[in-house]
Amino acid sequence: MPNRTLLIAGNWKMNNDVAEAAKLADELAQALPEVPAGVEVLVCPPTIDITTVHDRIQAAPIALGAQNVYWEAKGAFTGESSCDMLKSAGCTYCIIGHSERRAMGETDADVNAKVLAALEAGLVPIMCCGETLEQREAGITDEWIAMQIKLGLNGVSEEKIRRVIIAYEPIWAIGTGRTATPDQAQEVCENIRAVVRKLYSSKNARAISILYGGSMNDKNAFELLAQPDIDGGLIGGASLVPEKFVEIINAANQPTA
Ligand code: PEP
Repeated sequence: MPNRTLLIAGNWKMNNDVAEAAKLADELAQALPEVPAGVEVLVCPPTIDITTVHDRIQAAPIALGAQNVYWEAKGAFTGESSCDMLKSAGCTYCIIGHSERRAMGETDADVNAKVLAALEAGLVPIMCCGETLEQREAGITDEWIAMQIKLGLNGVSEEKIRRVIIAYEPIWAIGTGRTATPDQAQEVCENIRAVVRKLYSSKNARAISILYGGSMNDKNAFELLAQPDIDGGLIGGASLVPEKFVEIINAANQPTA
């Protein structure tokens, strides 16, 4: 099995004003003077907090990401931020196509345009996919996820695919306290890797990172992160509580055998 780095990514969503974000960033920087070998830590604050968080975590081994991005470089796009703007504020990653944004109208075509723009600018896209409870119960999870991945990666070259991170986030598990079982999460992540293998190659499929997200916390992280096709977590609620987030990072560092 290839030695993929485990990425533990916090999605702060629309939480924390500037002062609160500074406090949380300080607490994380203090709690994480170093991170375990083979583990990378990322926080994705609201756009308004990015500069503040960047200043606070600069000396810590914590990367910075945005929760969204726009595909155009500049111009009359009120409320949006371009890849270069986010990079200039210190971001190296961006979440794209989170189900909460898709619920606000973001389409697979939008997700694809954002992924391509991020790659072009040198940001690492974390492209989210996931099924609803109805889709799972109808037995169409694999087809749905495969379609989201194919559409989201449309036009991504063989050279760039390894820089894409895919986050599997079952919608029924996000913010609900209802986590996919390790087996359920593994099954879909394995399928995602198979889709990448078909679209690209076995080598690329082995190299790409696939995260699980959906009510991951300090209690369930170890088992989820021990799955062979799960290369980290995208964490909402628990990333707002430093002790829990640090516990998840420690869980990523546990030997599995
Ligand atoms: C998320 O925001 O991507 C997420 C998985 O949230 P939560 O951990 O709160 O379910």
